[in-house]
Amino acid sequence: MLVVGTNTPFPPFEYVANGTVTGFDIDAINAIAIKAGYDGITVNDMPFDSLILALQEGQIDVIASGMTITPARQQQVDFTLPYWEADQTILVRKGGGFNPQDMTDLAGKTIGVQTGTTGAYLAEEDNASLGPIKDHDTFLYAVLDLVNGRVDAVLVDSPVAPAFTSQYPVVASATIRTGEQYGFAVRKGNTVLLNALNSALRKFKGSPDWDVLLTKYFNDQQSMNQNQQGLDPLQYVPYLLTGFYYTALLTAGGLLLGCGIGISLAFAETCLPKAIRDLSAAVDQVLRGIPLIVMFFLLYFSLPQVGITLAPGLAAAIGLGLRSGGYQSQIFRSTIESIGTEQTEAALSIGMNTFEAYRHVLLPQALRLSIPAWSNEFTIVLKDTSLAYALGVTELLKEAANIVALTLQPLGVYLIVAAIYFVASTGINRTMNMLYVRWKIPGLGGGT
Ligand code: GLN
Repeated sequence: MLVVGTNTPFPPFEYVANGTVTGFDIDAINAIAIKAGYDGITVNDMPFDSLILALQEGQIDVIASGMTITPARQQQVDFTLPYWEADQTILVRKGGGFNPQDMTDLAGKTIGVQTGTTGAYLAEEDNASLGPIKDHDTFLYAVLDLVNGRVDAVLVDSPVAPAFTSQYPVVASATIRTGEQYGFAVRKGNTVLLNALNSALRKFKGSPDWDVLLTKYFNDQQSMNQNQQGLDPLQYVPYLLTGFYYTALLTAGGLLLGCGIGISLAFAETCLPKAIRDLSAAVDQVLRGIPLIVMFFLLYFSLPQVGITLAPGLAAAIGLGLRSGGYQSQIFRSTIESIGTEQTEAALSIGMNTFEAYRHVLLPQALRLSIPAWSNEFTIVLKDTSLAYALGVTELLKEAANIVALTLQPLGVYLIVAAIYFVASTGINRTMNMLYVRWKIPGLGGGT
């Protein structure tokens, strides 16, 4: 399997339809991979500005994402032969009375771009005369900001502009000639793969299959106007629930790992000699002190430098677990301290060792007393799984973004998403509260 990195939505080159990433680039690289002797591809949909790093770190084998071959990028990756040509189009609101013809007409205007793209670089070159440049994670958000009046114009690749003008109340006012060429990218020095892809690409471009793809994605209105698939957000609930399945897995993985780490650190911090106590206190400070997104990037992008390559979902679950472990250790430590030292002394005096006292006397009580604080931690982990989007994990929020791109109904879709998070967190909180009441320790802990 050839692991392909891409960034949706960039229609018709890459977008999500019926829950899977599809598009010209995806079909093309799949056909090329097969011609080059692979048995197929797996696609990882990630932020555009993470693609090169993910390729360098070995998380993906090839970038197929309408990526322009630029001298700066050529320093970092190797590109195949060009397969497409593009310029930059200026999009403005339909009927807005603003009709810029070139970059100078954009003087003093707020420009929306997608982070790390050639459109963004073009705007930055002209920075002195332009108004503020607003970076967006995807072109979709830049276009939504344009529709909502937050930016005056958006710079987008010309081959992608028709997909946006046909779906949103925006028009193309001019095209700035940049003469860009798209290529697929491989890790620098990976000449074996590069040569294989190049010869397969050459053959593919000369075959009728290439024209079939052109018709499918560029002449066929049905695939351009994907929103004709139906505007009712309710229709997309099954996809959202698939997204929620990954959210639930990440939450469970994060909480379980966090529980293991939390229980161990709490043991070290309450029962072991001072030196170990201080060390584990320092560890949990570090775990709690690192922003979750930085933890994700460390695990996903930095570990490969020491030879450990984690799948995006696993990196996210471990990141959530490490961070939650830091917090859970605090929950368990404070409940253990509230149980008091007499019980430990009593346990030790009947011949238990420190570990046995912790395991048989302190921990069972601490776990029961920790339930209210722990259900709070559950809600935090549940909500923070959405950050896994940055690594390309298609959890609930990412799935929702895909559906917004398709239905153009941010209100309906995000309300459904909010409802799913709400039902999941209240459901678990209620269950936890019931368990707390049922397992309450007479004379210890507050609450009902
Ligand atoms: N062609 C542009 C670039 O390489 C945009 C590509 C994209 O957003 N997928 O920067």
